Amino acid sequence: MRKPAVLFLCGWLALPAFPADLGTLAGYSETSTRTERDWEAKFRAIPDPANLRSYMERLSARPHHVGSPYDAENAEWLLGKLKEWGLDAHIESFDVLFPTPKERALEMVAPTRFTARLAEPTEAADPTSKQHEEQLPSYNAYSIDGDVTAPLVYVNFGVPEDYETLDRLGISVKGAIVIARYGGSWRGIKPKVAAEHGAVGCLIYSDPHEDGYFEGDVFPAGGLRNRDGVQRGSVMDMPVHPGDPLTPGVGATKDAKRLPLDQAATLTKIPVMPISYGDAQPLLAAMTGPVAPPSWRGALPITYHLGPGPTRVHLKLAFNWDLKPLHDVIARIPGTNESDEWIIRGNHHDAWVNGADDPVSGAVALLEEARALGILLKQGWKPRRTIVYCLWDGEEPGLLGSTEWAETHAAELRQSGAVYINSDSNGRGFLQMSGSHTLERFLNGVAREIPDPESKVSVWQRQQFHRIANPMPGQTPEERQEIRTRPDLRIGALGSGSDYTAFLDHLGIASIDLGFGGEDRSGIYHSVYDDFYWYTHFSDTDFVYGRALAQMAGTAVIRLADAELLPFDFDDFTDTVRRYEQEVERLAREKRDQIVERNRQIDEGLFAALNDPRHPMAAPAREPVPPFLNFAPLQNGMAAIERTAQVYKHALAEANANGGSALARAMLRDANTKLIEVERALTLSDGLPNRPWFEHQIYAPGFYTGYGVKTLPAVREAIEQKQWTLAQEQIVRVGKVLENAGEAIEGAASALGQAVK
Ligand SMILES: [Zn+2]
Repeated sequence: MRKPAVLFLCGWLALPAFPADLGTLAGYSETSTRTERDWEAKFRAIPDPANLRSYMERLSARPHHVGSPYDAENAEWLLGKLKEWGLDAHIESFDVLFPTPKERALEMVAPTRFTARLAEPTEAADPTSKQHEEQLPSYNAYSIDGDVTAPLVYVNFGVPEDYETLDRLGISVKGAIVIARYGGSWRGIKPKVAAEHGAVGCLIYSDPHEDGYFEGDVFPAGGLRNRDGVQRGSVMDMPVHPGDPLTPGVGATKDAKRLPLDQAATLTKIPVMPISYGDAQPLLAAMTGPVAPPSWRGALPITYHLGPGPTRVHLKLAFNWDLKPLHDVIARIPGTNESDEWIIRGNHHDAWVNGADDPVSGAVALLEEARALGILLKQGWKPRRTIVYCLWDGEEPGLLGSTEWAETHAAELRQSGAVYINSDSNGRGFLQMSGSHTLERFLNGVAREIPDPESKVSVWQRQQFHRIANPMPGQTPEERQEIRTRPDLRIGALGSGSDYTAFLDHLGIASIDLGFGGEDRSGIYHSVYDDFYWYTHFSDTDFVYGRALAQMAGTAVIRLADAELLPFDFDDFTDTVRRYEQEVERLAREKRDQIVERNRQIDEGLFAALNDPRHPMAAPAREPVPPFLNFAPLQNGMAAIERTAQVYKHALAEANANGGSALARAMLRDANTKLIEVERALTLSDGLPNRPWFEHQIYAPGFYTGYGVKTLPAVREAIEQKQWTLAQEQIVRVGKVLENAGEAIEGAASALGQAVK
């Protein structure tokens, strides 16, 4: 255990006026800044680590996956709390396809026999690990049923490049069951790519190299994955669309029209199951064939072979394909002025099992924010905008609760959604900020005012030092220098993997994702050991980072809700999109150069001459040289947002003159509406190529990375997949989107100019 929480609280209160001089808040006049800071200071004094601990103890006491009794009980309990704190709250339910295992079997039938255990045993030290009756068995949700017996091939992480290597080694997975290790991509990509290459089944195991004994002591001695720990998880094809597979694009309400099961596009094409390294080791040890390349080897005490050899496995999976109820818990604080502009804050409450870390550590911070807002309201605080607090159900299987809610309320949300703020798991360490770059400056401003519980500098300062001390691989000297000199720390771009997806990618609502982490390695993700015992021994044990998250996210909510003018900024946005644009140009150039060079090597006979006859590796195939792409439409789009960002900056400077007195008296309704429209202007209603649900044209989860973001996705992915005609078409489309955004920014500037004239 760490120091008692009370010492941290005293230490924090004893800080000299933290931080010293902060100036006027963006979107506020000098007068309203003072009032706002008073409310925010009151707010930040409320969250209490002891409450976070008690909420977590309650919410993670029993397994609470979708459709389980405790999932529904938790929803009712959350509702009761929100109401007790004076908030107007309700539960909104949906019916979604949620398969659960009926039959799971894995055995090696040759060269020797071995039957996989497929069980996570009770750990004596860990009281909730024995709740086997209520635990979901280890499985991958949305795997299809299957019964296959086939040779085994090891495919490393199972990403597309791994199959290129196998090809050159002369190894085909056609008709085979592949075994991939977790890591390198989101898990749903592994069966997808395996099926594209003709595999008939897929096993995914947790190698100790990634989150087991290679990284640290395993549970229960330490926080890392033990030999029987399994990572459950969804393998739904979420890069096509998340949410209920039977109701794409519409809410899964009682009377929604549902697709027949055989038309659901996001189920896997082959059966897939996750296993522990305890179950994987005998299979891997029995394999023969070429030795795996060095970077493919994990940390098991075996020589990793690729197969296929005599090793054959039998995989049998059958699921109950039932509809299950989802219970989103929603609380609404109506705004006094701009009540039709919503600041939405969400975190999921469902888990794979007990889920103390994922998601309860984030959910308890959100809950404590809600309690604090209830207190502020009783003290007379009146937010200008409407605030919506959401505890989502069904995130784990496929962002179900947030997606169905967003699809059900799409029309209202497109009208009123101003900002969505998400969190998920939370731990000790450094503040991670990702989101829409129109909010980068805003987020930096909030982070400068939140004290770090361990070091007492601001969470912003600690993140800056962290970046200086740990330069990212491949960073240029300029990029390193910039960490010190650029006023704002760069925030990450959002891919997918949590509940912001429907808001940002489908509806074009500027979104943020927040959380702390980086100081503790964890290996209990989606296992039965992610529970209260684990969290209170190996993570934010005194809940001070839970409090910091509540302070950070809650301050952002209040500040956005109270601002006279929404604090969107287009300088950091433009600077960031310019980088993306340069990246895709460089990518096209490099792809072309690589192909030219490789063709030359093939023609020179390099591969034939270097081939080691005892370890043969075929030459790659000759490829057609790509055409040069014309990036002028993207450049024109860039010019439009660069020019209009300046126009907006100028209008804002006028509005801020004389202590923002103009802001204080102006009618800013129109300007705020126009500001909200900027993020919408970054979407296209027919979406990305082959995945129309994803409308945002700046950010998307990668079609072959899963959670990992692809920025300017339509252009970037077409280049990566060597679809040159498509790439050229998308450059034109995305260039037009940037021009549309430029028009929207100019519209906001002129509305602001009108208002403060
Ligand atoms: Zn989660």
